[in-house]
Amino acid sequence: MNVEEWQKLLIDGVHRVRELKQKFPHLDEEEIEHIISIYPVRINKYYLGLIRSPDDPIARQVLPDPAEIYEMSQGVREDPLNEEADAVVPGLTHRYPDRVLFYVNHQCPIYCRYCTRKRKIGDPNSVNHDNIRAGLEYIREHQEIRDVVLSGGDPLMLKDELLGDIVGQVRSIPHVEVIRIGTRIPSTLPQRVTQKMCDTLKKHHPIFIMAHFSHPRELTPEAKRSCEMLADNGFPLMNQTVLLKGINDDPETLKELFVGLLRFRVRPYYLYQADLTTGAAHFRTSLETGLAVMEGLRGHTSGLAVPYYVIDAPGGGGKIPMLPEYVLQVDEEQVVVRNYERKTFRYTLPPASQANGTSQEEEHHTLLASASSSSTNSSPK
Ligand SMILES: *Cc1c(COP(=O)(O)O)cnc(C)c1O
Ligand code: SF4
Repeated sequence: MNVEEWQKLLIDGVHRVRELKQKFPHLDEEEIEHIISIYPVRINKYYLGLIRSPDDPIARQVLPDPAEIYEMSQGVREDPLNEEADAVVPGLTHRYPDRVLFYVNHQCPIYCRYCTRKRKIGDPNSVNHDNIRAGLEYIREHQEIRDVVLSGGDPLMLKDELLGDIVGQVRSIPHVEVIRIGTRIPSTLPQRVTQKMCDTLKKHHPIFIMAHFSHPRELTPEAKRSCEMLADNGFPLMNQTVLLKGINDDPETLKELFVGLLRFRVRPYYLYQADLTTGAAHFRTSLETGLAVMEGLRGHTSGLAVPYYVIDAPGGGGKIPMLPEYVLQVDEEQVVVRNYERKTFRYTLPPASQANGTSQEEEHHTLLASASSSSTNSSPK
């Protein structure tokens, strides 16, 4: 069987203590052995090539760190988002009314040290066909599901045939309108995006690719080629980034990333506050850090480059948007707002008597209540 380029890059990557020690002599062998017996390591050869020094923002995403096992932090959990506890069948989380998250494997092109599902990834029993069958059946039986997010692991780590088979089965369900694929492939193993892969998937459009870039140094010519190929084949591309301490937690770095992604035809979609994951607490930032990033984007650059900054609520509350405070004051007559330059503006509201119907009035009161009770305004943009 012929091995494709991307498969060779995986095989030739770093997986074991010996290889790690060779490339990064400063690491403590015994310590690393202990860490990776709990959380496996994988740095494929392409991503390894992006590392310039052991403490750069690329290396920090993939090199095991003693903080993963020694740093104790309050409130961390192995399953911080209750993805498993809330699973309706193993591998399928149905949290929102019309969409589901469907895990199809546990393999990734690299293993991110900050991963929310770090307890699960790297499982050698990569694909559980019984779970996939049960998940498909659940979706088939629930007509309200119109959006299926394929995740893992990384679905694009599956070989074309199995990938096409799973996506084709989802597509054959009449009430499923949109399919999304959450993937770290374009940023960490772009060679995986081949014309054959695109041909396999494009039969089942609309398929959105939810990419995951963390740092502007991942914006390489190879990554660009993979995004362009996906766009040329009709896949709308979105990006999700986790806000990571010491890696991308400053406004300039993220602005460079988000503006750069637009050049790749990728739309920044979510910026996540890091989850309360066991073994990943050392990546967490303050909320102010994220709000400062958002403040530095809105108005200062293309609105297209501005993602939603969200907290995925612990325990399964879903994604909740966080925004800098733009509403300064609101009463019956007017709303006082400020813009990106911190200039103040008044917007006169229509008289309550003019509002047609009670629903608008109710909305108005809800706005009043939320503006006065919350310090973080969270209305959708
Ligand atoms: C993020 C997520 C989705 C998709 O959410 P959108 O806001 O529609 O992008 C669906 N289900 C679960 C469980 C999720 O975590
Ligand atoms: S690619 Fe995604 S699922 Fe895999 S380790 Fe990274 S964050 Fe976790």
